[in-house]
Amino acid sequence: MKSETEQSALVLFSGGQDSATALAWALDRFEQVETVGFDYGQSHDVELQARQRIRTGLSDLNPAWANRLGMDHLIDLRGFGALADSALTAEMEIAWHEDGLPTTFVPARNLVFLTVASALAYRRGMRRMVGGMCETDYSGYPDCRRATIDAAEKMLALGLERKMPIETPLMKLTKAETWALASEIGGQKLVALIVEDSHTCYRGDRSTRHDWGYGCGECPACELRAKGWRDWLAGK
Ligand code: ZN
Repeated sequence: MKSETEQSALVLFSGGQDSATALAWALDRFEQVETVGFDYGQSHDVELQARQRIRTGLSDLNPAWANRLGMDHLIDLRGFGALADSALTAEMEIAWHEDGLPTTFVPARNLVFLTVASALAYRRGMRRMVGGMCETDYSGYPDCRRATIDAAEKMLALGLERKMPIETPLMKLTKAETWALASEIGGQKLVALIVEDSHTCYRGDRSTRHDWGYGCGECPACELRAKGWRDWLAGK
């Protein structure tokens, strides 16, 4: 079944806090929403399981969202992951290189994801893509910046001969503001779903439940998520 509506969006969805919030944002706006995830050999398979729980949870939360949420696509990019190996896909310490980039940086990851996702969006007749990229709290990844996304949008419009807007509702938000946005969109139930079922920890650790969710509590992703949670509660 092909969806040709103007009000359609393909959401890049990893199962993390940011993309879960971006997915809820899209479901709140667009009539037809599909999700795409990438398996690039990341050590946290756990993130891929989180995707299914979040999708089910969002459908349970709101009947309108259940109607809008369409297919999920999981794309095998292990070949890409192997060539671009980082601390996420190989046995490597999470640390910082001299150029300021963390070892978790996967070169050109978002550019590859956006390009592959655009081919899928094109084939599915989806009119836009939505991603949870954010440049505010975590400037370590140059391909998360809006300037990079703007350039990708331009490249895709030329290469596809069709406009393919890339919406990034979290781009300018702090992590605290991302929690606030989830609360605005879906109230306490959405916040609880994201806390419980989204996965952010680089180490794929789900053995400890903190008030902000599961994770090792020590990796940069956990620290950022925990700090955002505390800042949000403090500012409420
Ligand atoms: Zn962690």
